[in-house]
Amino acid sequence: MVIKDLFNNGRRAFTFEIFPPKKTSPIESIYHTLDELIDLKPDFISVTYGAGGSYADSKTCKIASDIQEKYGIMSAAHLSCIYNSKEDINLILEDLRKHNIRNILALRGDVNPDFPVKHDFKHASDLITYIRKVSGEEFHISGACYPEGHIEAKSIEEDIAHLKIKVDAGATHLISQLFFKNDAYYSFIEKVRKAGISVPIEAGIMPVSNKKQIERMVSICGASIPKELKDILEKYGENQEALREAGIEYAIRQIDELLHNDVDGIHLYTMNNPYIARKITEQIRKN
Ligand code: FAD
Repeated sequence: MVIKDLFNNGRRAFTFEIFPPKKTSPIESIYHTLDELIDLKPDFISVTYGAGGSYADSKTCKIASDIQEKYGIMSAAHLSCIYNSKEDINLILEDLRKHNIRNILALRGDVNPDFPVKHDFKHASDLITYIRKVSGEEFHISGACYPEGHIEAKSIEEDIAHLKIKVDAGATHLISQLFFKNDAYYSFIEKVRKAGISVPIEAGIMPVSNKKQIERMVSICGASIPKELKDILEKYGENQEALREAGIEYAIRQIDELLHNDVDGIHLYTMNNPYIARKITEQIRKN
């Protein structure tokens, strides 16, 4: 089974994202998080890939492999391309193959000024075309999409035209960037479907738990913050615990509404926080 099969017969997916521990932390530190996340039975867990870092230092493949082998849950490995050459990608694909990882989230990658880019790939669609060329249908390929437009795109229409190139290159499933306004998501989906993109799209939801962290994320990805959430940040900004609980409630409301509006799936950016993931998962399964 690969990710695209999850959506057969209109089934909805519920999935998680985690990130590997920092270079300075032991890889084992992720297993406490995973022990708890696995208990929530997500359909798959995707593992991020550090911006600019070398694959040799990356723990993505090892963690994605353990999610499948130790915990019996499907995983997906994020793979970005601007810091990799074709030779690098060949070696990475070989490693993923060896570890039985069949789902790749193919990305351009965030620009990190500390690392020089390589020039074999410019866009995620180049990476997808290349993976399809060298390995046919062996891997299931997902891609990223942006309900409010990618920050570098001139318009949402232009970004969706680029998204179509990505899907035509071979992405058979998309995961959205975080967003806080469901109306923006519905409007995006309508435009995407009109553009002839029919693959399943999961809505990316990031629960707010830390004011600084969310301000940093929003400045990187350009997601807008609705008044209701601004008020929450204003009211609880300095009170971590109260903000976390209000953020959980906001995410539950957002997800509930999305589910009532027939989204293909929910991808929870867990930020490696099992407490938050558990509260949200248990509540939406009750609702
Ligand atoms: P692209 O699809 O290449 O798009 C980037 C820009 O180029 C857009 O403005 C687009 O409109 C334009 N564009 C795309 N294709 C073309 C084309 N053919 N011709 C002209 N213009 C084009 N980053 C990481 O470093 N590691 C991660 O693990 C990671 N995981 C992520 C997971 C998700 C679900 C999301 C939404 C993002 C993730 N990112 C990650 C961030 C991502 O790398 C950045 O958002 C990056 O800026 C764009 O990546 P992309 O794959 O969407 O790029």
